[in-house]
Amino acid sequence: MELTNIGTVRDILSRHGFSFSKGLGQNFIINPDICPKIAEMGNAAPGFGVLEIGTGIGVLTAELAKRADKVAAVEIDTRLMSILDETLADFSNVKIFNEDVMKCDLRGLISREFAGLRAAVCANLPYYITSPVIMLLLESRLPVESITVMVQKEAAQRLCARVGSRESGAITVAVNYYGTVRQLFGVSRGSFMPSPNVDSAVIRIDPAAEPRLPEYEEKFFFKVVKGGFSQRRKTAANAVSSQLGISKEAVYEALKASGQNENARLEQFTLEELMDFSINLHRIAQ
Ligand code: SAM
Repeated sequence: MELTNIGTVRDILSRHGFSFSKGLGQNFIINPDICPKIAEMGNAAPGFGVLEIGTGIGVLTAELAKRADKVAAVEIDTRLMSILDETLADFSNVKIFNEDVMKCDLRGLISREFAGLRAAVCANLPYYITSPVIMLLLESRLPVESITVMVQKEAAQRLCARVGSRESGAITVAVNYYGTVRQLFGVSRGSFMPSPNVDSAVIRIDPAAEPRLPEYEEKFFFKVVKGGFSQRRKTAANAVSSQLGISKEAVYEALKASGQNENARLEQFTLEELMDFSINLHRIAQ
């Protein structure tokens, strides 16, 4: 079935009485070049199980299923289930979970569904939960080799920014902490139905095999990053002391121990500088 043919898509949707939900971020891909590229650049290959988040009518799901050994897909919208039964009828290696990805036991799902396989994530993410989904995937340290996702262009720029640059944010620090990230290609708004108001881009995150910090340092590090970046125009001393309830003197001492001056701002730190500052602050504030 040609799921990028507008006529075919309209026919399926109208036969099933389906109307798009803006709230669920439903913009389906109709440009035939995009899904094969995401699948090929996202590890959909023999020996792999691929987890997809948000199937829509299954346009990407089908391209993943053609290439990978198995596809497990999580889709929240129950109205799409009968559509997927029809559009994915030719594939015996796809399993759909009608669940909210934010509440799903993804680790359990991967170990059950992909036993003996390598694992990857591929998705055209619903835009309203881009950052929470990416953080969930990274924080839960899923045993996946790559996370290849389409996000809004602005989100891609932030995710792929250099840590320490103006464009970076707490999420930039997080993806660089957990692995490496790069932009694969841009996608214009006309590639979707309905067409959104912004362009998109596909990025790939390759999670690191080993954590950079021990668990107790990692927890504190993310408190510092989230607190510090929530007031990013303030000096590190002001932001961190007010957000974490640590005295300014302790923050000054940690800055000094890290070779930073008292007026430094967290958003200017590299990842290594942030980790160094966090370790010093943790030791001094204890
Ligand atoms: N993969 C399809 C495509 O590329 O055409 C659909 C992508 S569309 C941008 C996002 C999909 O995610 C929608 O089908 C939407 O119903 C689904 N979705 C939204 N929130 C979700 C959630 N919390 N859990 C699982 N799926 C969700």
